[in-house]
Amino acid sequence: MRGVVMHAPGDVRVEDRPDPRIEQPTDAIIKVSAACVCGSDLWPYRGIEKLEAATPMGHEYVGVVEEVGSEVTTLKPGQFVVGSFWASDNTCEICRAGYQSGCVHRVLMGTIGTQAQYARIPLADGTLVATPEVPPADLIPGYLAASDVLGTGWFAAVAAEAGPGKTVAVVGDGAVGLLAVLAARQLGAERVIAMSRHESRQKLAREFGATDIVTERGEEGIERIREMTGGLGAHSVVEAVGTQESMMQAINSARHGGHVGFVGVTHDVALPGLGLFGALVHLHGGPAPVRRFLPDLMELIGDRTIDPGRVFDLDLPLDRAAEGYQAMDERRAVKTLLRP
Ligand SMILES: [Zn+2]
Repeated sequence: MRGVVMHAPGDVRVEDRPDPRIEQPTDAIIKVSAACVCGSDLWPYRGIEKLEAATPMGHEYVGVVEEVGSEVTTLKPGQFVVGSFWASDNTCEICRAGYQSGCVHRVLMGTIGTQAQYARIPLADGTLVATPEVPPADLIPGYLAASDVLGTGWFAAVAAEAGPGKTVAVVGDGAVGLLAVLAARQLGAERVIAMSRHESRQKLAREFGATDIVTERGEEGIERIREMTGGLGAHSVVEAVGTQESMMQAINSARHGGHVGFVGVTHDVALPGLGLFGALVHLHGGPAPVRRFLPDLMELIGDRTIDPGRVFDLDLPLDRAAEGYQAMDERRAVKTLLRP
């Protein structure tokens, strides 16, 4: 089969890779309908995260079940499924508490590489959620968004306790930040402030339900949020970048007693103890337990209540994956969808 392999920073190739096979009786093999390039794939692409060797890429996926292992009981060939970037059993104590990304048996899908024609999904019964029927083609991008960026943005908004009567500020205008705007609005937030300097992203943020846009960042951004909230800061802040500046911007934009949901994969972030102590905020985040939200999100997508697939602004055949990486790296594209 064909699949994406990263050889070195900036060097992404589509190559022949071995067809995946059932390795464990709990595995399923899916024919990938669509995959995509994640903001986190850009860290090794930019050389910020070290690559040890040539690495198969991709952890977001939707597809059709081809084959299931002997112990898989809830899925059968022909079903359209969505899974998260962590495979999880969905039965252990951590999963049952809603933290499937911390499952005691979890497997990171990035080690498998779903930017490919086929993928092996471990712990298939726990990981995959099937739609009632194979969906129409125009819904595929929405379901694909649920696999990571929507689920992650949604978790961030939940972790930040977005809800009725709340003012929510979102730091980061990538796909996750934009979908956190959508999530905050769906969760009933009164005011949703998107922090973005890019016109096309501001426009999408508005479409997803942002009521205000703040273009300043860092100290100036924090000042603006305080001015807009009677000097108090936002009730809820989503952090969807992962840098020192964005983390501090998020923490300091929250009011005392407020909540910060952080989901940007952190790189070299060090929180100052005294600053954190003085902030008097709740911090909750990490790799999103997307599986917790998948059934509900898939229903909202299926009945067309939400259209998260609009974050994909570049749609390419798998063989042109390198162009998709480049466009995202240069910020010409928010998110690239790849069709095997
Ligand atoms: Zn588990």
